[in-house]
Amino acid sequence: MTLELQGLVAVVTGASRGIGLATAHELAAGGARVAMIARDAGRIEGAAAQIREERGRGYVCDVTDLQQIGDVVERIEGELGPIDILVNNAGMIRDKLLIRTRDEDWDEVLATNLRGTFGMTRAVLRGMIRKRSGVIINISSVAGLVGSAGQTTYAAAKAGIIGFTKAVARELAPRGIRANVVAPGFIVTKMTSDLAPPARDNLIARIPMGRLGEPEDVAPMVRFLAGPGGRYITGQVIVVDGGMVM
Ligand code: NDP
Repeated sequence: MTLELQGLVAVVTGASRGIGLATAHELAAGGARVAMIARDAGRIEGAAAQIREERGRGYVCDVTDLQQIGDVVERIEGELGPIDILVNNAGMIRDKLLIRTRDEDWDEVLATNLRGTFGMTRAVLRGMIRKRSGVIINISSVAGLVGSAGQTTYAAAKAGIIGFTKAVARELAPRGIRANVVAPGFIVTKMTSDLAPPARDNLIARIPMGRLGEPEDVAPMVRFLAGPGGRYITGQVIVVDGGMVM
């Protein structure tokens, strides 16, 4: 049986755990070879070793550093070949009220979520334009669509990702490159692990499907958009949130 992503090279940032790791598993299950990026060398190597049939390979890169991005993309292309799929998933939060937000909170959240997405996308484009095909999937959040109290920096970054992706989609469609956003709702990962039980219950009450999401709820959408089923879809924001935002 031929898998739909057989022979393709995917890059997933923030792939050592959570949504990024589940996405790497899913893309590998579709047949892709996956370059998995994170900052912690031990953890990304451990994550890559879990991927089926040795289709995962770990790479250390801090996506806030444009120089490191250029170097890692060059390495991946040299070792795995031209990049077909990019998933910009690396992200972080610094949740606090706006009045308590420090300049460095803003800079760090924007640099990781938004500038990282810009830097990685720009770095893979040359290769994608050359072969006139490619898929970019950026992980935003429902916070970027409807806002979220205590998350002004994060909401700004995630809304920025949506605008960025739509502009990329328009600019690169004539070159055979698609770009879409996946906006998860509340997904159980390390990022969301410190939610107190009352807040958790309140949140669940706002989710029509009555449960929090798992990384495995998000990853199949990324695989779909990356594959032939997504071939006429670009510039879209797909919300994966159990119906919380509609
Ligand atoms: P986790 O905190 O579980 O994982 C984050 C991943 O990103 C890790 O692999 C981490 O590895 C990596 N990472 C963080 N900073 C950098 C950096 N500067 N450079 C490279 N890698 C980095 O997060 P989630 O799985 O929960 O989130 C994944 C994405 O989904 C994020 O963009 C997040 O904003 C988004 N999202 C999550 C939701 C949720 O409810 N969990 C909801 C909506 C969106 P390392 O620290 O080693 O670098």
